[in-house]
Amino acid sequence: MSNPFRTSRTPSWFCPYCGYLADSATDATGTHAVPKPDDLSICINCAGVLMFDYDLNIVAADEKLLDELSPHIRRAIDEGRRHIRRRGPIDRGSKH
Ligand SMILES: [Zn+2]
Repeated sequence: MSNPFRTSRTPSWFCPYCGYLADSATDATGTHAVPKPDDLSICINCAGVLMFDYDLNIVAADEKLLDELSPHIRRAIDEGRRHIRRRGPIDRGSKH
């Protein structure tokens, strides 16, 4: 069975919350999506909610935007964050 979650290479970025260094993003929708401006993401290290800006740089998600999400999307994000928090931080590349 093939993996439905496609990982896209991105320019290297540091998580604005924990400093984790990453260079990819995985589509959690199973639709083989690639990152585009305003897409949301979750830091795989600290579970911070992130978003892609217009240059596809990773930035902290706009709190106002999070409040406007549909309950369905909000639940999916919360579930992903719970999973990452249960596992605990990876901490590779952390500046701390
Ligand atoms: Zn982080």
